Amino acid sequence: MPLWLSSNLLSKLEQGSCDMRSLCSLSPTLVMPLWLSSYSDCFVSNRSGVQLPSEAFNSITIKNQPLFFYKMDKETEQLIEKAGKVYSENFSMTTCFERAIFFSWWCGINDCGFCFMSALPKEKTAKETAIRHESSILAETWLCRKLGWEFGFFTGGINAFNADKIESMLEKINKVYGEKVWISLGPIPKKLLERYKPYVKGVVGSVETINEDVHKKACPSKPINPYLKMFETANEIGMKTAMTLIIGLGETKDDFDKLVNFIKKYHISKIHIYGLIPHKGTVYSDADIPSAEYQAWWIAKTRIEFPRIDIQCGIWSDRIERTSLLLKAGANSISKLPVFRKFGTKISYDLEEQTKLAGREFLGSLTKMPEIDFDEIDRFGFDEELTVKIKDKIKKYLNVMKKN
Ligand code: SF4
Repeated sequence: MPLWLSSNLLSKLEQGSCDMRSLCSLSPTLVMPLWLSSYSDCFVSNRSGVQLPSEAFNSITIKNQPLFFYKMDKETEQLIEKAGKVYSENFSMTTCFERAIFFSWWCGINDCGFCFMSALPKEKTAKETAIRHESSILAETWLCRKLGWEFGFFTGGINAFNADKIESMLEKINKVYGEKVWISLGPIPKKLLERYKPYVKGVVGSVETINEDVHKKACPSKPINPYLKMFETANEIGMKTAMTLIIGLGETKDDFDKLVNFIKKYHISKIHIYGLIPHKGTVYSDADIPSAEYQAWWIAKTRIEFPRIDIQCGIWSDRIERTSLLLKAGANSISKLPVFRKFGTKISYDLEEQTKLAGREFLGSLTKMPEIDFDEIDRFGFDEELTVKIKDKIKKYLNVMKKN
């Protein structure tokens, strides 16, 4: 799809008399930042503007400034503008990164069509080797806190940990993170919800799609009913509820009304709106990545319908440039980035820049090494062996981050 720049704006950019952030604030359509390195591929259009061919997106810059012009239909543009207004009336203009912390790469279900776990080679998913040691989970939790990231939720493959282990991990995570956390552990029965309740903010149900037919394809062995039961129980015992929604599985915009009813019925206070990542070896391996506008449409519609709901948007390393659009559409926070491997890289700098382009202050950091005081680990009061192991794991994480 071509991008269009008016010759007037182009000339202002070239003269340096208009910076990209100011331009972005002029219109919600100025949302597709591109880091351009030359503009030799531009050509003058017959509308006295400059048309940028789509293949030039990743190779062109103008004065080292990101470019934000994206041709979007008027209706979506107006929707995003309205959603952005609703967001600003209900939340502070900040955002942050949310880290989901996994306890395993093994799952007892293992055939969801969008899930990286179901596509992992067998040797990586043997139960004995694919479950993390608690020191690694706690090291990651502590770094999450030091870097100012929100703890998205505690999760892992279904049946990888038993209830005793989960409860014990949640207690330790609360100590290390300093507050309760969300959990996403499959459908949890009432007696376990009550057991975990002292340590959790709420329970996340991996709903994935509200289109029943699509659900059968996406989650052939993960029926929705047990999750609905869990939501009902959580509502009954006063526990908050959240849900995941993956855009691009085969749903259409016509399904939005079902989402509205679902959110109302189960009192969902937080929603994670991801875009499909087609993993090799899954039924979605050849599927298209949902477009930025389509993901933004779902976020904007949800924001307008539910002004106070907490919306987390999922991106990926190849979709950094859509972050500002998703935030403008009313998302609160950002998730889904291999953040330790990408820490301090251009991708992370670009992501932080994207949040500014959306007019948000980014809380925490994806680019600055944290200040570390290992004595803090001693003060958690874990036994000596675990304490030593947590410190070792932290050092390993820091080494990865420094190498980037
Ligand atoms: S149940 Fe969860 S972890 Fe297991 S395959 Fe499905 S999405 Fe992946």
